[in-house]
Amino acid sequence: MLYIHIPFCAKRCFYCDFHSGTDRTIVDRYILALERELEARIDEIPTQELTTIYIGGGTPSQLTPSQLKKLFLVLESKLNLLNLKEVTIEVNPDDITPDYATEISSLPINRVSMGIQSFNDRLLQLIGRRHNSQKAIEAYQILRNAGINNLSIDLMFSLPTQDLQEWESSINQAIELCPEHISAYDLSYEAGSILTRKLKQGEFEACSDETSIAMYNMLVDKLSEAGYEHYEISNFALPGYRSQHNSGYWKGKPYLGLGASAHSFDGKVRRANFADTSLYINNVMEGKPTFEVEELSPRESYNETIFTRLRTADGVDLNYIEQKYGKKNLQHLLREAASYITEGYLTEQQGRLTLTRKGIVISDTICCDLFL
Ligand code: SF4
Repeated sequence: MLYIHIPFCAKRCFYCDFHSGTDRTIVDRYILALERELEARIDEIPTQELTTIYIGGGTPSQLTPSQLKKLFLVLESKLNLLNLKEVTIEVNPDDITPDYATEISSLPINRVSMGIQSFNDRLLQLIGRRHNSQKAIEAYQILRNAGINNLSIDLMFSLPTQDLQEWESSINQAIELCPEHISAYDLSYEAGSILTRKLKQGEFEACSDETSIAMYNMLVDKLSEAGYEHYEISNFALPGYRSQHNSGYWKGKPYLGLGASAHSFDGKVRRANFADTSLYINNVMEGKPTFEVEELSPRESYNETIFTRLRTADGVDLNYIEQKYGKKNLQHLLREAASYITEGYLTEQQGRLTLTRKGIVISDTICCDLFL
């Protein structure tokens, strides 16, 4: 699994805390730095097992077609891409023109993930997105016409001042488009974001917990009725279209992350590249370290496994917990889970512990109790 971070955006959205900046004069140097980092870390990629690539951001569609081509030329020259099953690129609707979509489909990209967030123009403006609803629908059709047959769209709910009716319209519009995959996230107010500042200044009120829960329940009901599998708390897919790359993260598979702020995991040690694009470029070019290392303690590893796997429809494999963390920790897990099972928040079936619909709503509390 390979992740490549493209830390450039045309404009910062009001809610965002991902690492990205708006200076695109450094993109060419950045691609050169990605090439250098890949060369330096090539041994960390078991090329026969490289089955997924995810190009995320930031906004990867802020790269020009020739910059995107250059990036793939680098990948093709250094890696064996023959076993790739899924290559995803994130795009923003306002970057998608017929020419751009044709360029994307001419590259070894077979999945596009588009950040739409809402089909309501008032709400899109409120959260600082560049596009409007009509542009999102147009971009979707342009990608389809260019032959992209695995499309994922991102939606957000609990937006400031959003009501249930507006959320229902966005879900209906998403279902009408019929993307293969939908990710839907509950808005969170990140420290230091423009939206958080506006909230603190009293410009609007945050959605109530009751409304957020009602929105989430509506989402699950409507997408399930429309034939989507709810395979992770925030992710829904038509049969056969689960994200292979993200599923790899949730299963704890190793991955390599290239670029500023990208994370890597070799099964034991997690490594985070500096979240400073200029520093990243300069250090890579000068052969200096670009990262910090974090070795997970057995306790942290156990907690992370519970957290990520419980979010998925497959749940926590109890056998795996016993094999990897020992009988004592399995007993701890079963002991802490017992009351949640009795009260219908968790189920234990066929050696797996899974959140019920009722449990999803309080998953953070449940996880805390199951942690070591
Ligand atoms: S386009 Fe994406 S990465 Fe860029 S500011 Fe908006 S949400 Fe953040």
